[in-house]
Amino acid sequence: DAVLSLAGITKSYNTGLPGQVDVLRGVDLDVQRGEVVALVAPSGAGKSTLLHIAGLLDTPDAGSVTLHGQNLTGQSDRRRTLARRAEVGFIYQFHHLLPEFSALENIALPQLAAGTTRTDADARALALLEKVGVGHRASHRPAELSGGEQQRVAFCRALANGPALLLADEPTGNLDPATSDQVFDALMALVRDTGLSALIATHNLDLAKRMDRTVRLDTGHLAKVP
Ligand code: ADP
Ligand code: ADP
Repeated sequence: DAVLSLAGITKSYNTGLPGQVDVLRGVDLDVQRGEVVALVAPSGAGKSTLLHIAGLLDTPDAGSVTLHGQNLTGQSDRRRTLARRAEVGFIYQFHHLLPEFSALENIALPQLAAGTTRTDADARALALLEKVGVGHRASHRPAELSGGEQQRVAFCRALANGPALLLADEPTGNLDPATSDQVFDALMALVRDTGLSALIATHNLDLAKRMDRTVRLDTGHLAKVP
């Protein structure tokens, strides 16, 4: 029962130089329900391109993207946007929280946009913050939080609308090693608790080992890492 299914994904960029850059040359990947997959790749290998295609932010040149049973290949932008909002949560290396809003508001806002009532949105935001150990920071703005706390809040925001799939690009890459470990633990606890499927890009092989399996992107192809 795959939550994300990528089949035969190709993507090239025309750089204006002679020829083109073939970033993805036929990528196949299934992420099963509740599975957490580590994505490792040398810099420039196409990790961000792959995550953006998986999250319907970018379209492949060929191949299919199926999310939660919906084949979105060739669908309109509108349908892809709706599917992305309903099914996908994104986390980046930097938190991208709205600076003028509190931690709680940053998590409530996407829920309000999706039609949740204020009371329910606030209650869910607080419950998520408590799960990652920052319930006591709910009323703080991002600038008043440590780097680790900011990322914890960003994790909660990604999960605010109950996505089926989490896509993360170096979610703890901006933190010092000790903080990174703790914050990654909090992320994994949250993912396990919600039964979410996740594809998490990391350069950190120790973090990769804590996920269910690892795939490596190199020269346009995905390979299993034993
Ligand atoms: P990674 O995230 O693994 O560092 P990216 O997916 O960002 O890699 O990029 C993969 C390759 O594609 C790089 O060589 C990059 O320069 C190139 N690339 C990415 N986006 C574009 C673009 N919009 N136009 C041209 N080349 C691009
Ligand atoms: P870290 O050890 O992660 O670098 P800091 O030393 O930046 O953390 O912060 C330690 C604690 O102080 C954190 O819990 C953080 O929320 C709080 N804090 C930091 N800056 C502010 C601020 N400007 N206003 C309120 N609380 C703050």
